[in-house]
Amino acid sequence: MRAAVLIAALVACPAAADEDIADQYPGSPLYSKPVEVIPHVWSAIGATAPPTYENSGHNNNLSFIVTGDGVVVVNGGAAYILAEALHKEIRAVTDEPVRLVIDENGQGHAMLGNSYWAEQGVPILAHVDAATEIEAHGHEILESMKRYNRDKAEGTFVALPTETFEEARAIEMGGFRIQVLHLGPAHGPGDIQVWLPEQSLVIAGDMAFHERMPPIFADTIVKDWIETWDTGFEALNATYVIPGHGHPTNMDQVRRYTRDYLVFLRERIAEHLDAGGDLAGAYYVDQSPYAHLDTFDELATKNAGRVFEQMEWE
Ligand SMILES: [Zn+2]
Repeated sequence: MRAAVLIAALVACPAAADEDIADQYPGSPLYSKPVEVIPHVWSAIGATAPPTYENSGHNNNLSFIVTGDGVVVVNGGAAYILAEALHKEIRAVTDEPVRLVIDENGQGHAMLGNSYWAEQGVPILAHVDAATEIEAHGHEILESMKRYNRDKAEGTFVALPTETFEEARAIEMGGFRIQVLHLGPAHGPGDIQVWLPEQSLVIAGDMAFHERMPPIFADTIVKDWIETWDTGFEALNATYVIPGHGHPTNMDQVRRYTRDYLVFLRERIAEHLDAGGDLAGAYYVDQSPYAHLDTFDELATKNAGRVFEQMEWE
């Protein structure tokens, strides 16, 4: 009985409305053309939708910094062709060579395009936990990308990071001081943030979501994510935020749609637990204040179930 209810909860999701938002850059595998967010810092904003053949898996932000003495790329992207397409965009704005690629974590859309950059001989930096994740699960991640990307997966292979770090890595290149940080556990293993202290801009990775609902994965410990946010991420006091997903914005906005959502969901689940509620009922806690976010239909019930499972033992 319980299993039947659970399955019903998971399959009741209607088709994703946000998948209907048309590709913004026909003629390129990229979902959208890179925009210059602040001087010399660019980002190709991904679809705020699940990965599909239509968006080629470009559903996260692929950024680059033109330092004056080389380019630093943040994220390999979900496939070889996305990294190749991003490189074409980089060449259109600068003659400087790409000197470093940074993966925001070990997820497919952060690292599968490493394959292209590895062929160019560009060093690839990731957090040590992301590297472990890629080594352990890279091939499954590649296979699941191939299922939606089919012919667009061509050329993609698992290329491991060539460099790792644990807490922080300082990079000085051209006119930029770049701090690559691991502020603590957040969305998943090896999440990193790229912080430009002089520009007060953070490329937040999956610490921060905007315009779409954050997904809570099996290995996402929500309580830790909130703590890392409150103690580490807020302390940067960033003026500009390029989130992992959604358009560039500021701290007030990503706080509202990431940290505040996580706190909200924990409060709803706590009420449900206090009332003696079970897992089957937890899927249906009221999340309507966030129903306008993209990927709500795919994720809201799953997120509630995961938070219930975590809080049940606290
Ligand atoms: Zn992501």
